[in-house]
Amino acid sequence: MQESFFDTPVKYLPGVGPVRADILEKEVNVRTFSDLLHYFPFRYVDRTKIYRISEIDHSLPFIQITGHVTRIDKVGKGRGERLIAEFSDGTGTIKLVWFKGLRWIISSLKPNTEYLVFVKPSLFMGRINIAHPEMDMATDENIKFASGLQAIYPITEKLTAKGLNSRGIARLIYTLLQMAQGKISENLSPDLISKYKLINREDALNDIHRPSDSEILKKAEFRLKFEELFFIQLSLLQSKIIRIEKVKGIPFPVVGNYVNRFYKEILPFPLTESQKKVIKEIRKDLGSRKQMNRLLQGDVGSGKTLVALMAILIALDNGYQACIMAPTGILANQHFKTISGYLEKLGVATANLTGSIHRKEKNIIYQKLSSGEIRVCIGTHALIQDEVKFKNLGLAVIDEQHRFGVAQRAILRKKNNPPPHILVMTATPIPRTLAMTVYGDIDVSVIDEMPPGRKPVKTYHRYDNGRVQTYNFVTEQVNKGRQAYVVFPIIEESETLDFKNLLAGFNFLKQIFPDPTYTTGMAHGRMEAGERDDAMRKFTAGETQILVATNVIEVGVDIPNATVMVIESAERFGLSQLHQLRGRIGRGAEQSFCILLTGKKLSNDTIARINVMCRTNDGFEIAEQDLKLRGPGDLEGTQQSGIAGLRIANLAKDGQIISLARDAAMELLKKDPHLKLPQHGAVAVYLNDIRIKKTDWAGVG
Ligand code: ADP
Ligand code: MG
Repeated sequence: MQESFFDTPVKYLPGVGPVRADILEKEVNVRTFSDLLHYFPFRYVDRTKIYRISEIDHSLPFIQITGHVTRIDKVGKGRGERLIAEFSDGTGTIKLVWFKGLRWIISSLKPNTEYLVFVKPSLFMGRINIAHPEMDMATDENIKFASGLQAIYPITEKLTAKGLNSRGIARLIYTLLQMAQGKISENLSPDLISKYKLINREDALNDIHRPSDSEILKKAEFRLKFEELFFIQLSLLQSKIIRIEKVKGIPFPVVGNYVNRFYKEILPFPLTESQKKVIKEIRKDLGSRKQMNRLLQGDVGSGKTLVALMAILIALDNGYQACIMAPTGILANQHFKTISGYLEKLGVATANLTGSIHRKEKNIIYQKLSSGEIRVCIGTHALIQDEVKFKNLGLAVIDEQHRFGVAQRAILRKKNNPPPHILVMTATPIPRTLAMTVYGDIDVSVIDEMPPGRKPVKTYHRYDNGRVQTYNFVTEQVNKGRQAYVVFPIIEESETLDFKNLLAGFNFLKQIFPDPTYTTGMAHGRMEAGERDDAMRKFTAGETQILVATNVIEVGVDIPNATVMVIESAERFGLSQLHQLRGRIGRGAEQSFCILLTGKKLSNDTIARINVMCRTNDGFEIAEQDLKLRGPGDLEGTQQSGIAGLRIANLAKDGQIISLARDAAMELLKKDPHLKLPQHGAVAVYLNDIRIKKTDWAGVG
């Protein structure tokens, strides 16, 4: 694009001015000509035909009609106040309804005037009823302007108040497109255009706003989505290339005694095929001269700890130290128990470094870490304190990465020079398409298989009126010696009320499971950390049988005897949250059960979430469904990746285009990693341009 023209502030566009410009920027982040050009419609109305009112039925998509307002009435009072207009075209009458901005509408609706109205007919109490219709004078010009598919733009109340409804925006964009004629330059290479059969950029931008038919629209959409995703991939992948060139890794050429002895003498069970595959990928990284930056994804219970241990053994075989950082003391202790148990047999000194360790002992650990006497250290944030100095840290493993920020990872990286290899582990599955985008610049390994003998958790949905039976069932299980979780939602917006419900729930459960026959504990966010840890510890040790909790129950806590989970008000949890919670059970040999209790009135989305939970235990399938139901905006990791700012592509729907765009970016970078070739000139300029502007696709690392 030619800088000067497209960077012009939007206030200079005829029809905008300072007031509208201000609103455009504040409301929808449109600041420049370029922003406006990329303000895309979210749907289109078929304007090839004008419908008659007698033809309308509620199954029709967006359509247009013409006619007159024959009557206006204001009805209702206060919040129920609304405006109802009768609208007639001679073949019939429909009702138009407004709930907001009544005064303005009354003053602007004119009698004896022919209007063009755009509607999505919907049925209300058996009658076609159109709320907040978009209307225009049915002038020849408007009707002509309206041929073909008409773009509908996302708008807000404040935009509308300044005359910028969808049609107002369409007019501005039309003006801009005319001014921009001949100025929109191509930003993809000729090779890409021909290989992916793309239309050129100028046509695409014209057609997306003013498509003459749906075929043309499809081509424009494809081109623009591809372009958007391609530049994200290019940016991420090129950053990775540059990082690899700049940062040298510690080579671990040897696989020696520790690995071999562990494998032959100590490993108590055969590895799953998935674990083997992932360990191979890690070994390859460690053997190269590159610094490993790998994300290991695997559902709860898939055996990630063992993979981390194998990586640690490779570091040891090469004479280096290793560490594992976990988000909480409980998880750090759990890892320490497992891993030091194995390492002891190999004669490797291991330390546990958490906040609750006494100063004296800490100092001893610090000293032994810097001398190299301690070779593996497992801990919490305590690991990244300044005092902690390693002799030669070769590998840092980070568990449940979403609890840590990029900054904390960066500190770990600085604990050695050259930086240690980094293995980040997460039990929050991320759909493939999202991983490619959010984690586009790091490598991803996936464990997609459970160790054998695991019984999938059986999940059931019960309405509140099934609560008694539900807790009868829990009692049966507890009487058999099992432990149970009962989870209550607490969300910020209604924290006080939720908290009351939690306490009421606890009292209710105390009646069902009375002292001293049963022991009941509670863990929630308002407790002091020490108290909460204690409640968790007691449950872990089997001292309490029933734990009433909020979602503070740690991810990754491994209590095989806990086989029942009741989730109260399950409709209030998100899908991935439900899945994470459920992951705390189903870890032992006995069959586990999860019961989702809900109220009677459920939205379609909630029903969909509950059905997915009852149908499958597969974290990746659940993550895909979650992405479909919620859209990517809310998902973890999307904030820092900048994909929340996608203008046209949709991560939930455009998976195929993401793959294509990624392949295209990889292929191009293979040929020309620094974008120096003349045929990539336009690509390089555009990439540089979006990198300088707000767009931050730095990803994680
Ligand atoms: P997560 O991936 O959730 O961190 P863990 O590493 O805690 O899972 O493993 C869960 C349980 O599965 C542990 O008790 C572990 O010993 C066991 N496990 C791991 N790998 C295997 C395997 N290949 N075969 C049998 N059990 C395994
Ligand atoms: Mg784990």
